[in-house]
Amino acid sequence: MLQDDIDPRCLVEALTDDMETARLRRQHEATSGLAVEALPTVYRGTAFRSALEASWAATIDSFGLTWEYEPTTVTLPSGARYIPDFHLPQIGVWLEVKGDGVPRIEKAIEYGQSLACDCPKFACTCRWIGGELVLIGHPPRGWTPDYDEDDHRPYWAQAISGRHHGGHPRWTSTRGRAAWIGYCVYCRHATWFDSPHCRACKRRLVGAEGLESGNQQIRFHRITGIAVDDDNPAV
Ligand SMILES: [Zn+2]
Ligand SMILES: [Zn+2]
Repeated sequence: MLQDDIDPRCLVEALTDDMETARLRRQHEATSGLAVEALPTVYRGTAFRSALEASWAATIDSFGLTWEYEPTTVTLPSGARYIPDFHLPQIGVWLEVKGDGVPRIEKAIEYGQSLACDCPKFACTCRWIGGELVLIGHPPRGWTPDYDEDDHRPYWAQAISGRHHGGHPRWTSTRGRAAWIGYCVYCRHATWFDSPHCRACKRRLVGAEGLESGNQQIRFHRITGIAVDDDNPAV
């Protein structure tokens, strides 16, 4: 369940997701020796392989971007087959989610390099500036609230919002450049940037003028999936 602002409209939906998560996890335990490795998690009706993937979906939602989960199987130039985790069709981005363990990112890197275009610098005419972008999403970095003397809430309320922050999402571009997320001032889309252009509307953003970002908006939304068992329904 989204540990965030409680929206009554979403409660039924979230509970349905939690019940389905519980069912999948029981099934997973029954068929897998490694139940703790990757816990299937349902978010907005989609069954993800892990809570981390479901959390990335919720995080992408918080940016106001549309995602597709594992929409296609790609054959890489090396001949290997690869299923990227997320496609973000509005901004021409693919996202590969990596957990804490040994990262296997070779396929994502190969895919990213195969999608990068060969246009001369500053003269790209592609649908997506520089070609489609492949990002690797890492587990979030922890967040510590700044001391704010204007925050007069009791310490426990501040601590709760600190926990709900979820941490800062981290990602790496497979093009070897830095990629950062922000909101384009022209088209208002949230997008990852690795060039001076908005990926959604292609307009050139000069420095920070065209780009808005804020730590409050750019944070990781954790989906844990409440453990629900038959004896103890979480209602
Ligand atoms: Zn190009
Ligand atoms: Zn734009």
